[in-house]
Amino acid sequence: MSADRRAELEANLADVRGRIAAAERAGGLESGSVQLVVVTKTWPASDVRLLAGLGITDVAENRDQEARPKQAECSDLGLRWHFVGQLQRNKARHVVAYADEVESVDRVELATALDRAASDAGRTIDVLLQVDLADPPQPHRGGVVPADVAALADHVSRCAALRLRGLMAVAPLGEDPRTAFARLAVVAADLRRDHPEASVLSAGMSHDLEEAVEAGATHVRVGTAVLGGRPPLG
Ligand SMILES: *Cc1c(COP(=O)(O)O)cnc(C)c1O
Repeated sequence: MSADRRAELEANLADVRGRIAAAERAGGLESGSVQLVVVTKTWPASDVRLLAGLGITDVAENRDQEARPKQAECSDLGLRWHFVGQLQRNKARHVVAYADEVESVDRVELATALDRAASDAGRTIDVLLQVDLADPPQPHRGGVVPADVAALADHVSRCAALRLRGLMAVAPLGEDPRTAFARLAVVAADLRRDHPEASVLSAGMSHDLEEAVEAGATHVRVGTAVLGGRPPLG
């Protein structure tokens, strides 16, 4: 069973790595310059273990209740854990205990809560600001509107236990990802002018990673194309 699953993940990973390599070539980028983050939400810790054995270094989760026990089971693997889901302030303490990077910071209050929690835990957490690319904005899906990115970035850069690393976004449904990611590239260029260290651009998922790399993504977050279709959430 596990051997079958390993073979399946290995084949899927070969395919995704091939797609990333082709996108790098198309963009004139150095091979290996785009980082693959595998989104393991809804999949068991045993899959995370297999992925680590297949050379994956970075995994992402979007729900604290699920991520916490999974990370605990996999704490021997030396993986980097990304948190990519909407986050309530009262979960900040939980999340900073296992996440190395929070990609979904979208408001000042959340940044402040993460900073306090990380400071108390004696940790420094990498942070990406999640940008809402929808037009009009869709606040219930998370994300800071482009016009408010600069102020939020200034706030995060003053948080001693947070390290501002860049931006994350999801292309809105019903729009060509190229036009959405083109808007994101402008926001990212503006941010780098004020905060040169914020050079990470996390964009692109299973169905639009090529468009994201074309627009300058440095990290792609891929779930389905590596692990298969997610079982419905119970
Ligand atoms: C689930 C998820 C992904 C991965 O999506 P796939 O379509 O399965 O590749 C990427 N980013 C975020 C924020 C997610 O929640």
